[in-house]
Amino acid sequence: MNLYNKVIPFQLEKLPIRGRILVLEEVVDTIIHKHDYPDLVGHLLAEAILFGSLMSAALKHDGIFTLQTRTDGPINLLVADVTENGVARGYAEFDKEKIEALTQSKQIISMPRLLGNGQLALTLDQSDLKDRYQGFVALTGATFAESLQHYFTQSEQLKTALFFATQKKENKWRAAGIFLQLMPQLDDETEEQKSEHWLTAVSLLSTLKKSEILSDTLTPHDVLFRLFHEHDIKVFEPKQIKAGCRCSRTRIFDILNNMTEQDRQDLVENLYISVTCQFCNEHYEFTLDQFIAK
Ligand SMILES: [Zn+2]
Repeated sequence: MNLYNKVIPFQLEKLPIRGRILVLEEVVDTIIHKHDYPDLVGHLLAEAILFGSLMSAALKHDGIFTLQTRTDGPINLLVADVTENGVARGYAEFDKEKIEALTQSKQIISMPRLLGNGQLALTLDQSDLKDRYQGFVALTGATFAESLQHYFTQSEQLKTALFFATQKKENKWRAAGIFLQLMPQLDDETEEQKSEHWLTAVSLLSTLKKSEILSDTLTPHDVLFRLFHEHDIKVFEPKQIKAGCRCSRTRIFDILNNMTEQDRQDLVENLYISVTCQFCNEHYEFTLDQFIAK
């Protein structure tokens, strides 16, 4: 069975730990190549899509998980959203000249330098929840993974560890990651035992090399086995992730149709209202007489 592009949930039988592992290949490759993004942008967008995909595996019916940054650095916007069906999309907005200059400098550019100051919002839209859930992550870590794991530990009161790796090799993108969480406390477990269990899991995860999880020869199951075989791994049904978009002519028509006539007129250029989807670059054209005047 091909285990790529699938979120694989797992649990350790001898430690109160659960997690998910995911290696994305064509999903990130398709999205990044479609936009022809520079490598520096591609790596961060790949991480955002990876994280969104890992989180989407916990969604129930009709849900969408969105990660969005708004910052003042060279990459001022990153968006990735993934539905409960595993349909992933994403895009970025950035300053071409600044990114080009950073690329030329040949230095290793950290996330804080690329994003600058600002906000990372996580949004959970689920049709059966009345309110959407939104959380704000402080971009204080050196990496996305660091910032997000700090957020989880604080907001969910559950110790969380994240491991992200991305690569572009022979013009092919790949992103891989592990999400690890300490399960809620068992009654007969002391605080000390709990900390000890967590420490064991985290120190095992810290032995993982990026090259291993990104390797062509190791499957995600092999990686899990290497890390946790002493603690008996139980894997669950994997969830497929695929690149796709939710835009449609009808959806865009409805948005335009809900505007005032004046607002629509302001959008007309050369007789047409042209709309391009930022996620998938799909182009839609409408004429004013198609809409119902209000
Ligand atoms: Zn689209």
